[in-house]
Amino acid sequence: MPDTNLSLWKASAEDKLNFPLLKGSMKADVAIVGAGYSGLSCALELAKKGLKVVVLEANTVGYGGSGRNVGLVNAGLWMPPDEVEKTIGKEAADVLYHALAKAPDLVFSLIKENQIKCEATRKGTLHAAVGKSGLRQLESRYLQLNSRSAPVELLDQKAAQSRIGSDCFSAALFDPRAGTIQPLSYVLGLAKAAMGFSAQIFEHTKVLSIKGEANGYHLMCSSGAKVVADKVVLATNAYSEHIFPELKASFVPIQYSQFASQPLADDVLAQILPGKEGLWDTCTVMSSLRLDQAGRLIFGGMGGAGLNTRLLQWADKRIHKLFKHLPKLDWQYAWSGQIAFSQDHLPHCHQLDAGVYSLIGYSGRGIGPATTMGKELALHLLDEKHVMPLALTKLSPVSMREMKRSFYEVGAHVYHVGQVLT
Ligand SMILES: Cc1cc2nc3c(=O)[nH]c(=O)nc-3n(C[C@H](O)[C@H](O)[C@H](O)COP(=O)(O)OP(=O)(O)OC[C@H]3O[C@@H](n4cnc5c(N)ncnc54)[C@H](O)[C@@H]3O)c2cc1C
Repeated sequence: MPDTNLSLWKASAEDKLNFPLLKGSMKADVAIVGAGYSGLSCALELAKKGLKVVVLEANTVGYGGSGRNVGLVNAGLWMPPDEVEKTIGKEAADVLYHALAKAPDLVFSLIKENQIKCEATRKGTLHAAVGKSGLRQLESRYLQLNSRSAPVELLDQKAAQSRIGSDCFSAALFDPRAGTIQPLSYVLGLAKAAMGFSAQIFEHTKVLSIKGEANGYHLMCSSGAKVVADKVVLATNAYSEHIFPELKASFVPIQYSQFASQPLADDVLAQILPGKEGLWDTCTVMSSLRLDQAGRLIFGGMGGAGLNTRLLQWADKRIHKLFKHLPKLDWQYAWSGQIAFSQDHLPHCHQLDAGVYSLIGYSGRGIGPATTMGKELALHLLDEKHVMPLALTKLSPVSMREMKRSFYEVGAHVYHVGQVLT
């Protein structure tokens, strides 16, 4: 049985940083709640410009999606660009498209500038088609991206097979702008960079309430500490708890689980993703595949709260189907995380009060978008005339939240059981 208490990312992070608990009370220009990519990218930009910034994290830096994800640094959004256009209109969609097309550039340049050691590998990603419907999906996505000058390439089955090492995919869409990272190391690197510009970061400091008073917003913390700030950024995404229950109601939480094998032998590695791209597929119950620097195979799939044995059986079965020559893997780590799917599957920047903002709803595509939106919100806080690539919105609840959550969770479970039994 793999170790379910330790994710691969925690085990392999080079910098094991610890941050203090906040005691007493303090003042700040901006208080940021949540130490993931959104909060720390925002903190870094504000601190660089000389503002007094405090980041309050309920658990540890990267505890949320930022320390648990697959590490695929993709351009754009999970939703195809034509769909985005239908949802928010052509003009707004164009602005968002161009900002997020450059998101991997921003991530990889921050890594370079701040010398973040996070296994950064910019060899592109592959969106792999399953069956005829997957192929149709990718053909349509390719045309949409191509018409927007994205440098993507649609690989036929043979080319996909040689890039992936499996004959199970009918095609693959290659995006050279993308890459992979060790996600927890990246977020820890952002924290270190922000501290270098005097941002203050506190762990195990849960914000329990926020109240607007004449001298600013008062944030009361679990440690009994208090922060008084002119502005507040809630960067809690799928891990929104304790404050503003409306935030939690604005997304559907979906679990995603991953398994990491022992490091594979060189002759095996030469046959699986030899170009070191990261991969995700077109299935509704999506799965992902990538390697880390040590040569471990990391396989993930939607669903799996509690990481049950059925999920492990499914991982074994799926890997055997994909790579028939591969001996049974020794899964050493297993972990899961929560994704925040918004009503329209787009990220949002909500304004909750005159000086309170929330970045939320990345819908499973957050490394580039959260890094971008954190920085963009910082620029807006510094100068209200700065127009962000996403218009500020009012918070609204997702419709039929519990039904949708059960639908995804039960759907994923049924899919996994079905695959194990066939
Ligand atoms: C399993 C998984 C796989 C994914 N794979 C990818 C991928 O390959 N590529 C990609 O682009 N995106 C991926 N994503 C999405 C991406 O990880 C997220 O969108 C991104 O990390 C969101 O960052 P964030 O900073 O907004 O939130 P988070 O990283 O979730 O941070 C929120 C933080 O807020 C803290 N918090 C909550 N409430 C409070 C409080 N009251 N007081 C103080 N702190 C609080 C939490 O403890 C948490 O640390 C994946 C997500 C998951 C879960």
